[in-house]
Amino acid sequence: MQQMQQDEFRNESFTDFGKEENARAMREAVERVKGELGREYPLVIGGERIKTGNLLESLNPSKKTEVVGRFHKANEELARSAVERAQETFKTWRNTPPEERAALLFRVAQMLRERRHYFSAWMVHEVAKTWAEADGDTAEAIDFCEFYAREMLRYAGPQPIVKIEGEENRLEYIPLGVGVVIPPWNFPLAIMAGMTVASVVTGNTVVLKPSSDAPAIAYKFFELLEEAGMPPGVVNFMVGAGSEVGDVIVDHPLTRYVAFTGSKEVGLRINERAAKVGKGQIWIKRVVAEMGGKDAIVVDSDTDLDEAATGVVQSAFGFQGQKCSACSRAIIHQDVYEPMLERIVERTERLKLGDPNDPSTSLSAVINQKAFKTIGQYIEWGQEDGGRLVAGGGTDGEQGFFIEPTVIADVKPGSRVEQEEIFGPVLAVIRAKDFDEALEIANDTEYGLTGAVYTNDPAKLERARREFHAGNLYLNRKCTGALVGVHPFGGFNMSGTDSKAGGRDYLGLFMQAKVVSEKIRPGYNEKEKREAV
Ligand code: NAP
Repeated sequence: MQQMQQDEFRNESFTDFGKEENARAMREAVERVKGELGREYPLVIGGERIKTGNLLESLNPSKKTEVVGRFHKANEELARSAVERAQETFKTWRNTPPEERAALLFRVAQMLRERRHYFSAWMVHEVAKTWAEADGDTAEAIDFCEFYAREMLRYAGPQPIVKIEGEENRLEYIPLGVGVVIPPWNFPLAIMAGMTVASVVTGNTVVLKPSSDAPAIAYKFFELLEEAGMPPGVVNFMVGAGSEVGDVIVDHPLTRYVAFTGSKEVGLRINERAAKVGKGQIWIKRVVAEMGGKDAIVVDSDTDLDEAATGVVQSAFGFQGQKCSACSRAIIHQDVYEPMLERIVERTERLKLGDPNDPSTSLSAVINQKAFKTIGQYIEWGQEDGGRLVAGGGTDGEQGFFIEPTVIADVKPGSRVEQEEIFGPVLAVIRAKDFDEALEIANDTEYGLTGAVYTNDPAKLERARREFHAGNLYLNRKCTGALVGVHPFGGFNMSGTDSKAGGRDYLGLFMQAKVVSEKIRPGYNEKEKREAV
């Protein structure tokens, strides 16, 4: 076991559901989860199960009358007590050896691996991920545990500092304190688990407030943490509307940091509130905020159009376009505009919209009624602003929140669908007169998360490396599907603090460095000192 833990990190492979044995295992997991739908779940503060009677219902987006789970919601008082319990637990948890904390994450990774389809099946029901998308999410959660456990061992080891004579200097990373973890619903397992385990493995304690659209998956993960041996109070599970209890936990003077992933609007609000020093507060709160995107793929005249069209369509419509990395703008050189558009439309029309449980489904329902309405509105605005609807556009809210994969061509730079994050299956196609203009349009956004360029010209690739201002830039490949460790992830400008989740710098954000310098006194060396103690 020990040996296995020290192995080099490798990404978890994805499940091939084309193999009958895997499909059967997934069907069984889906059946199991179906049998568990509609249950009631408490808050868990300091290990204590609490029921408030004020319930939030989590619904299946593709079958909107199906209740996935009912969750007792925190009030302001409980929200405050969650922070206070986390602070109490911090006094002991911060002293647990890093190796022990890392071992917890290795166990969690192994347990997730063993229950992989079960977790994926919860995502199929709660956020309408297709099997493949849900499987990718679970694989990423396993990766985060494996990666951060190894990273903690690295951070806990001797740190390279310059040696001088006559002094012994050590730099040590110590935890921060109570972290408020606020994830989005779109990677309801991977991002939620990633921010939580990064906090825990570095010795912090957590108030986890999951998205109101995906509390069941978070609860299942929380239970798994408990089962893996996490002591009570290290993570406190607190459901509640962000608008009702979000400010309370962000503002609390005992909150030391906030790890947030979500929209620009909420991220900026958190950043602003966290900057205010509360009564009795003796630190500056740290905010790690990963936010939205308006990601673009630039297609040059000299490139393989089939490959580029496949990359654009996969990036635009995977998980209904509800990835922060999704391609929402295809910026195409005018010389290949029409043939490229044709290829995009043709591939989009081949996508199958439907039940996420049907293995042949390419994309399913969007997350909720509000998103359904907003996305529909953008499809209208796209046309009002001069765009040409060339694929999709239809919506069906009867059983679930279904929106066809939609392509709007001839979109003008600066227009609403070109500038604002839609977070749904809507692709804006924009004509550029040359590569220079294409890059200019790509960069003309307040965001800077992902981007891609398709071209055969090495000089243009080089220019893109330097000039395309995105935290994660891909050359001649799609702009989604970042892998832990391989593509550390985070964006520029209004896309957030560029924390680079899944990278070597990430855990540093959850710790502070302490340097202890001891004068070496002749005749009183290390050995003698130890004996004296
Ligand atoms: P959201 O509406 O901003 O919500 C994110 C989280 O913030 C939820 O848990 C939400 O709780 C909570 N929240 C809402 N108001 C709050 C407040 N006043 N104080 C504290 N917390 C509050 O975002 P979303 O719809 O869940 O996620 C989609 C967004 O996330 C998109 O913009 C996407 O680009 C972004 N995203 C970014 C990344 C990245 O790495 N950059 C990755 C994934 C997603 P409730 O659910 O209870 O409201």
